[in-house]
Amino acid sequence: MINDSLFTQVSSLGHEQVMFCYDEETGLRAIIAIHNTVLGPSLGGLRFWHYEREEDALFDVLRLSRGMTFKSSLAGLHLGGGKAVIIGDSRKIKTEALLRRFAKFVENLNGKYITAEDVGVDEHDMEYIFRETKHVAGLPLYMGGSGDPSPFTAYGVYLGMKAALKYQTGSESLENKKVIVQGAGKVGTYLIERLHKENAIIYVFDINEANLKHVVKEYKAIAVNEAEIYKLEADIYAPCALGGTVNPQTIPQLKVSLIAGGANNQLLDEIRDGKALQEKGIIYAPDFLINAGGVINVYTELEGYNEKKAYAKVERIYDTTLKVLKKAEEEKTTPQEAAIALATDRINQIAQIKKFI
Ligand code: NAD
Repeated sequence: MINDSLFTQVSSLGHEQVMFCYDEETGLRAIIAIHNTVLGPSLGGLRFWHYEREEDALFDVLRLSRGMTFKSSLAGLHLGGGKAVIIGDSRKIKTEALLRRFAKFVENLNGKYITAEDVGVDEHDMEYIFRETKHVAGLPLYMGGSGDPSPFTAYGVYLGMKAALKYQTGSESLENKKVIVQGAGKVGTYLIERLHKENAIIYVFDINEANLKHVVKEYKAIAVNEAEIYKLEADIYAPCALGGTVNPQTIPQLKVSLIAGGANNQLLDEIRDGKALQEKGIIYAPDFLINAGGVINVYTELEGYNEKKAYAKVERIYDTTLKVLKKAEEEKTTPQEAAIALATDRINQIAQIKKFI
């Protein structure tokens, strides 16, 4: 019964390979999901998370790796989609040996999966991983890598937001636009900095007091509470904390005309919630399209890092956002579906090319 559901889950999202990694000595329980490698090796971060159930970890890694396939394809990168999760409380079970054991599994895949930092994993952890496998990207600056990808991610989100605004109103100006930013972490703060420079009116909520205080003080953001965040009358909602915040509970409350943020998997159900937004007249800039700045930066590292080149590639997000929104309008579909179709078209076309020797 469990096996049935396992294979159904894996096949329904179209994964090429899913690897379960177990090691008794170190207590490692990890899953590496390789969604698609047509465009190149699969790349995606390693998340260390205390999942309540193993099924939740599988669900997460399958969804995230699929998102990486679309993200890299739309960004024009020669990369496929992958992701890895280690199950457990990183504060309790994370050790050098466990991380290095995980890295051995990555090394055994011979470059089919390239790992990177994600939630629960920091640059010191990457140092341990790098000792056992060269298939690592997004290393810290002091290790010769490209460093923190968040400024690049935030820049892409900002450009995607402006493109969506241009499409909607004819002007990309954010001056006096009311923007609700949920989450003032790394991406949220860099985004707020750019919004502030453009004289947007910024509302912000973060469960972390220190992060909240910082953006209120530095960028004159207006702090709101958790209950208000979905109900505020504003122009734009920018989810920059968790996924799944756009759902049947929140959509009826929203009084914005545009959603553009950095969080992954913002729509709890991409078909149902995408349609509900459209029916409400809210334009949604797909997350995997506009938050690709980070993976673009990491990819540039693999080619020989050059910051200018990375920023130039991130700038393409503006035009791709316009293209996706126009496609959705013409084909009477949602932006999410239009973006997936565009990403899939590129993969299918390259798959055809690859048939020839
Ligand atoms: P982060 O951990 O630096 O910031 C997240 C912030 O959200 C924290 O300040 C946290 O306190 C806050 N938060 C958590 N729960 C919240 C809640 N319920 N309400 C309000 N705030 C809450 O992470 P980050 O790197 O800024 O990433 C933010 C999001 O963007 C994540 O979903 C991540 O997967 C996604 N993302 C990040 C990058 C990147 O380059 N860092 C790239 C692509 C996607």
